[in-house]
Amino acid sequence: MSKKYVYFFGKDNSEGNATMKEVLGGKGANLADMASLGLPVPPGFTITTEACAEFGKIGKEAFFTQINDEVESHLSTLENATGKTFGKGPNPLLVSVRSGAAASMPGMMDTVLNLGLNDETIAAMIELTGNERFVMDAYRRFIQMFGDVVLGVEHHDFEVQLQAVKDEKGAKLDNDLSTDDLKEVIARYKNAVKNHTGKDFPQDPREQLWGGIEAVFASWDNPRAIKYRQLNDIRGLLGTAVNVQSMVFGNAGDDCATGVAFTRDPSTGENKYFYGEFLINAQGEDVVAGIRTPQQITLAGSKEWAASQNVSEEDRKNNYPSLEEAMPVQFKELDAIRKELEDHYTDMQDLEFTIEKNKLYMLQTRNGKRTAQAAVKIATDLVKEGLINEKEAVLRVEPASLDQLLHPVFVQASEDAAEKLIVGLPASPGAATGQVVFSADEAEKWASEGKDVILTRIETSPEDITGMHVSKGILTSRGGMTSHAAVVARGMGTCCVAGCGEVVINYAKKQFSVNGAVVKEGDWISLNGSTGTVYNGKIDTVDPALTGPFGEIMELADKYRKLGIRTNADTPHDAQVAVKFGAEGIGLTRTEHMFFEPEKIVSFRRLILVAEKVKKIKEIHNVDSVYDLNEEGHCCCSDDKYKEGKEAVKQYKQALAELLPLQKADFLGIFKALEGKPCTVRLLDPPLHEFLPQDEAGQREMAEQMGVSVEDIRNTVHGLHEFNPMLGHRGCRLGISYPEVTEMQARAICEAAAEVAGSQPEIMVPLVGNVKELAIQKAHILKVIAQVEEEKGTKLHVLIGTMIEVPRAAMTADEIAVEADFFSFGTNDLTQMGCGFSRDDAGKFLGDYVAKGIYDYDPFQVLDSKGIGRLVETAVKYAREVRPDIKLGICGEHGGEPKSIEFCHKVGLKYVSCSPYRVPVARLAAAHAAIKND
Ligand code: PEP
Ligand code: MG
Repeated sequence: MSKKYVYFFGKDNSEGNATMKEVLGGKGANLADMASLGLPVPPGFTITTEACAEFGKIGKEAFFTQINDEVESHLSTLENATGKTFGKGPNPLLVSVRSGAAASMPGMMDTVLNLGLNDETIAAMIELTGNERFVMDAYRRFIQMFGDVVLGVEHHDFEVQLQAVKDEKGAKLDNDLSTDDLKEVIARYKNAVKNHTGKDFPQDPREQLWGGIEAVFASWDNPRAIKYRQLNDIRGLLGTAVNVQSMVFGNAGDDCATGVAFTRDPSTGENKYFYGEFLINAQGEDVVAGIRTPQQITLAGSKEWAASQNVSEEDRKNNYPSLEEAMPVQFKELDAIRKELEDHYTDMQDLEFTIEKNKLYMLQTRNGKRTAQAAVKIATDLVKEGLINEKEAVLRVEPASLDQLLHPVFVQASEDAAEKLIVGLPASPGAATGQVVFSADEAEKWASEGKDVILTRIETSPEDITGMHVSKGILTSRGGMTSHAAVVARGMGTCCVAGCGEVVINYAKKQFSVNGAVVKEGDWISLNGSTGTVYNGKIDTVDPALTGPFGEIMELADKYRKLGIRTNADTPHDAQVAVKFGAEGIGLTRTEHMFFEPEKIVSFRRLILVAEKVKKIKEIHNVDSVYDLNEEGHCCCSDDKYKEGKEAVKQYKQALAELLPLQKADFLGIFKALEGKPCTVRLLDPPLHEFLPQDEAGQREMAEQMGVSVEDIRNTVHGLHEFNPMLGHRGCRLGISYPEVTEMQARAICEAAAEVAGSQPEIMVPLVGNVKELAIQKAHILKVIAQVEEEKGTKLHVLIGTMIEVPRAAMTADEIAVEADFFSFGTNDLTQMGCGFSRDDAGKFLGDYVAKGIYDYDPFQVLDSKGIGRLVETAVKYAREVRPDIKLGICGEHGGEPKSIEFCHKVGLKYVSCSPYRVPVARLAAAHAAIKND
């Protein structure tokens, strides 16, 4: 039997159901499902995503021939179900042709409405409805949409014609055009089509239908759809389905309406009332297009909206009544459906409905897009309401989305003191401060220069998606809570204030005016997306509260996760922030960052300046440590040489003596902040040249400070120059050359640990590739531990381990594990050395690599599980063979990335370590990994 590509949906005879999202797309599957539930769904049929894939593979001609009969037979089933005829009177069947993939991609692909209208069917429609103006309006909308989407005529070419007729007739709004005016618009639209395509507007409904199907399939691969899938990491889908559905009209008179609604508030997750917007006598797109101000579904919502917009009760009632007031019967029915659908899908739904001649129809339901704040609130509420269990609640919150909740909010006092410009709609919560730009392109340009920008537009469209993505906040002067800007911003977690009608934007002058104030490109403004307030200037921010539903979901995550979560922190403050976010210890303290502090860098530079000389003197005298050299002994060289050497040794020892208490103070602070939680401290890692000034002025300054000649400094810098420093004299190689530095650091750690009760230091040797490197460094560390224990009269509990960041270390992990209490996978360097991509330069080409599918993701962001992951797995296996209880963790950037965390869970690491602000993301991702894989 040949493959089935078309599925009918309608009362009593739906062929599909909600489990078939992969093939029917989300919209098609849920339409079939709603129809089966007995809800009022206009019937239609869905052409599958497999059809889209086949269309792409064998081409339009061959594929359309293949499915022609199947589409025809479903069309005739649709005619029977509706009692209408496609392309003919007296009761013509008109259809919408809409896209719908398995993952929702709102507004990214194409749609054609009112398909089936032609010069013949409009006559029948006029006869049928007795409303010639409505039919003409539908026809001109159809020509415009079909012309744009299917025939490739620029949207602009139609807009010019419409505006010309409006100007000639003195009409302000589209609604002011009479029936005859609309006929004139239709004639001009047809001309525009003929001018562009060289052909008349197609009158054959079947030609229209196949044109619509082709356009929707093709829109799967339009640039904005591709970009949207990239940004949202939507992969592995076959394509879009096409839903051909009988039309119902929300614009056939004042007993008609159309709207979109969410069963709970998608911004906050609150379940106070039915949240949504509608317009009377309007067609679907009008509500989201932001041309008219939409009305609220409920009376309560309407009153709240009026209060926020300074609309009087009188004005509200007369001009913006709620659906509850304007159409109480249909409201009640819709409200009951809201409850039924939430119970059925056990999740917040995003609904589209139309009321035609007082009859309610459901056009779509899907799990609603929501902010992270709403996701957390809804998930925890649904558990309390008994609709889902705890594990399901954990899975309902996307780990990466938590990022939105962890970022600062405005300092109240600072916000109170700020100059308020205007209040718009609180379209997407959060706080944003940035410089105003007026186009998505400018937003991208400025953001690439490291600037914080607020994208300010009359309204946004899908072409703006990349610019919106890089903006800190979005401000629009038009559009409601379901406008493009609002929906997309919420999805991205970007703060957005929409529909600020009083903001008058002048793109040409690159400025906007509001209540007498003028704001120009580059000026700073601030947005509070939770209240809709726009402020002049910058506002200070603070960290957010971590209690309430957020705390509840974190508690559930902790209940189900198996991985421990640590943080990468170099300061007591970072450690405190991370602990507040739930970190169970530090997985990486990079000690080099401490050396850059002004007081330390002077001593350290002094040490670097003489280090090479001291090394040579040690070699001459054949001693291991600089402390084995003293002023009296070891004089086997000429007087002059010895004098110079003596001075170098003195300076070296002095620098170490100066650094010790400073380093110790660092560790004291960190150990205290950790209150007994474990702390992995890594010994010095970067090449020494990083600590010296490379420029002339800096070298001059250093020379003065050190009391040496500029020449000396220049020579040292020159001597430290390496062609490939990342593979050069760094990591444990420094400790091998200058063991006194290892010992100084080990002593600072041990002395601090001895003074802070309960400290659990873990000393980590970086960049080990050969077990002997670790063994040598370990001997120095053990010597210091024994000394400090004796001096302090206390027993220290110090683990000694290594990073696994050199491929050779992974492949010889069985040897290294003999010497190591723990391994921490340094997957930044492991990726660099394993893939052979320079961490500093790979940005130039990795974008192309990902675009071409050579790597699925940038391997520095998402662990390359096939390659670098295999090195990790191998090391884990080898290490456990010789030391089953070895402590294994990861401290590369991948430790805070959800997909990589799932990999770490699967290979059985004990913990992941990430930056403080990623800790909650990691906790939740670890719970996802455990729930999905165990
Ligand atoms: C690593 O290489 O993964 C690591 C954590 O070390 P760094 O990024 O400091 O090189
Ligand atoms: Mg490293």
